[in-house]
Amino acid sequence: MSQGTVYNIQRMSTKDGPGIRTTVFLKGCPLHCLWCSNPESQLFTPQLLFFRNLCTGCGACVRACRSGASSMEEGVSRLDREQCRDCGACALVCPTRAREMSGRLMSVEEVMAVLRKDALFYENSGGGVTFGGGEPTSGGQFFLDLVEASVLEGWHVAVDTCGFCPEERFHKVLKMADLFLFDIKHMDPEQHKALTGQDNALILRNMRAALLSGREVHIRMPLMPGLNDSEENITAMADFFGTFGRHEIEIMPCHAFGRNKYAALSLPFPAVEQYTPEALQRVRERFARHGLSTVIV
Ligand code: SF4
Ligand code: SF4
Repeated sequence: MSQGTVYNIQRMSTKDGPGIRTTVFLKGCPLHCLWCSNPESQLFTPQLLFFRNLCTGCGACVRACRSGASSMEEGVSRLDREQCRDCGACALVCPTRAREMSGRLMSVEEVMAVLRKDALFYENSGGGVTFGGGEPTSGGQFFLDLVEASVLEGWHVAVDTCGFCPEERFHKVLKMADLFLFDIKHMDPEQHKALTGQDNALILRNMRAALLSGREVHIRMPLMPGLNDSEENITAMADFFGTFGRHEIEIMPCHAFGRNKYAALSLPFPAVEQYTPEALQRVRERFARHGLSTVIV
C-alpha cells in the first residue's frame, strides 16, 4: 500500500461536507496563493513549527538537536532555520508543544485505521470522509488509494480541491468521490498566475469535467479584497458558471487566522486586506447583480 505525508486528521468535523466527518489533510500544494491561511500545508515535506510564545526555556530542544539549530537566548530557545533539517527530534521532547512538526509519513492502512474509529458516526449522521490539503490530489497514488479504500468501506467521500491536478488523475477521482468542494480563485489566467503561481487553464478544464460529471460540486471562492472581487472577474464567473446552469458561489472571505503559523515557520505574514462587513455586503451585491447568489462558508 502507498504512503504519503499527512499534516492533520480532524475528527468530528461538521464543515467539510454533510453530517459528521473526518477530514484528512494531505501536505503539499502546487499553488502558492498569496493569502494562504495554512502555510504549513504548502511544502510536500514535513516542517518544524516553532511557537515562541509557548516556550518555557527548559532547554530540552537544545539537548535533542544534533544539527546545532537550537540554542538558548535570554531564557528562551532560539531556532536557526539555516541549520534546521526538520528532523523533528526537538518536537518529540518539547513539553509545551512550542515545537511541533507539520507532516507525518503515513500508510493508507494507518490512515484508514483512524478513519474507521468514527465509521458509526458517518453512518448515523449521513457523514463520511473528506480529503483536503494542501491539495489532496497532489498526493498521487496515496490519495487515490485512500479514496478507493473509503469508497470500498461504503463511506461518503468529499474532496476539497483547487482543481490543479493532472486530468487523468482527476477523472479517476471523479469516478469515485461523491462531493467536490472545488475552489475557483480567478477567471483571468494572468491574474490567476500572479495570485497563485499557476495559470488556471488546467483548473478550468477540471472544473468543466466536474460540472458535467453529474457529481455534486460546490463552487467555492476565497474572496480577497481588491484581488479577485472586481466587476470583470465576477462577470467572467457568471458567464462561465451560467453555461452550466450554476448560479451559487460559496464564498470564503479573507481572514487572518494563519498569522501565528506564519510566525512559527519564520515566514512573513502576507499583506492581504480584510473586508469590513459593509464592504463584504457591497461585493455580495455585485455578485447578485450578475445573477450569482453567495453563501459564506
Ligand atoms: S523544548 Fe520547548 S519549551 Fe523547552 S526550550 Fe525548547 S521550545 Fe522551549
Ligand atoms: S527539527 Fe531537528 S534539526 Fe531542526 S531544530 Fe529540531 S532537532 Fe534541530
